[in-house]
Order: sequence, then C-alpha cells, then structure tokens
Amino acid sequence: MNAKQEQLEVLKKKIEENKTLPLCGEANLVFGEGDAGAHTMFIGEAPGFHENEQGRPFVGQAGKLLDNLLKQIGWTRESVYITNIVKRRPPQNRDPLPEEIEAYKPYLARQIEIIQPKLIATLGRFSMNYFLPDAKISRDHGKLMRNEYYTIYPLYHPAAALRSTAVLRDLEDDFRKLPEILQLIHELHSDIIEEKKAEEKQATLF
Ligand code: URA
Repeated sequence: MNAKQEQLEVLKKKIEENKTLPLCGEANLVFGEGDAGAHTMFIGEAPGFHENEQGRPFVGQAGKLLDNLLKQIGWTRESVYITNIVKRRPPQNRDPLPEEIEAYKPYLARQIEIIQPKLIATLGRFSMNYFLPDAKISRDHGKLMRNEYYTIYPLYHPAAALRSTAVLRDLEDDFRKLPEILQLIHELHSDIIEEKKAEEKQATLF
C-alpha cells in the first residue's frame, strides 16, 4: 500500500469511528474508490440504494453509464477516483440536507487533499454548486472552471442522462473533451514549473 492509500485508509477509519455524523446508523458508509493517485476525481452527490447495499459509489444504473462513458475515452474506473459529497445515503434518496453536507465537508476536503487531483469532475448540479455556488448546469457543463482552490469540470449527472437523450449527448461530448483538458492542465503545470525554475536561475545570477 502506498502513502496515499494508507492516508485514505486512516481517513476512512476516522469517518467510521465518528458516530455523531448524520445518517450514521441509518445507512452504510460509501467512502469512495479508485486510484489514490488519480489525476481526475469524479464527485457525485450521495450514495443511492445500490451504493448503500454494496458500500461502493456509482454501482447502480447511473454507475454503469459512468463506466461506459469512461470506457469510451479509454479510461477505467480504476484509473480515476470516484466519491460523493455526502458519504451515506439519505433516506428515499432525498437531497442531502445542508447540515449533512457541512458534517461530511472536512472528510471530502481531506480526501481531495490526499489525492491531490489535477481536475475535479463534478457529477450533477448538486456537486457542481458545492464547489461553484453560482454556476448553472445547463450553461456551464463542459466548461473548465476554477474556484479558490480547485480546477473544476462540471458534468451532468449520469442519472439525468438516463432520462434524456439530449443530456446524454451533452454528457458524452463533455466526456470526450476530458483527455484533452487533462493534457492542457499537465502542460500548464509544467509551464509554471519551468517558469519558476527560470526565475530561480535568474535570481542566482544577481
Ligand atoms: N448518485 C450519486 O450522486 N452518487 C452515487 O454514488 C450514486 C448515484
């Protein structure tokens, strides 16, 4: 197990041990899964029925579509990291309450801190607005955005794409852009590193 995997395990234990968290005792923990060193982290809203049963994120119908969309761009679920904002299923799949989001917030923040993804792909309006309160899914899906801390790529929720072919088409188009976007981010990062190195070199000359 590498260092990031170990840190994630420690975090998972911490959530399990915190019995004061909302929905604890009512639903199973769905922590998240995938590559702890992934460049892209997919973040949904909260687990549903099947996720609660299996303790794994996106394993129902929406999850199958997510797997397919990943496959279409040559990615796998094992090569990315998938999780949710709220880590236990709200009853009857209702929207998570503000206090639930707040309670799970430090755990998601720590998860992101450990994984250090280059890109956060939000799945659905809910997750998008968690990071970008003013964004609108119909306007901003498929646009690369930033908040104070993260680079975010808002995507429609796969469940919405199961209900509408127009949304499915948009989601497929947005997915198709993912490899290119990640490449762009890599290039920007290496440019910044090169610039820093050049600045340091300059500084040593004077
Ligand atoms: N919907 C979500 O937002 N997350 C899951 O894990 C499954 C369905």
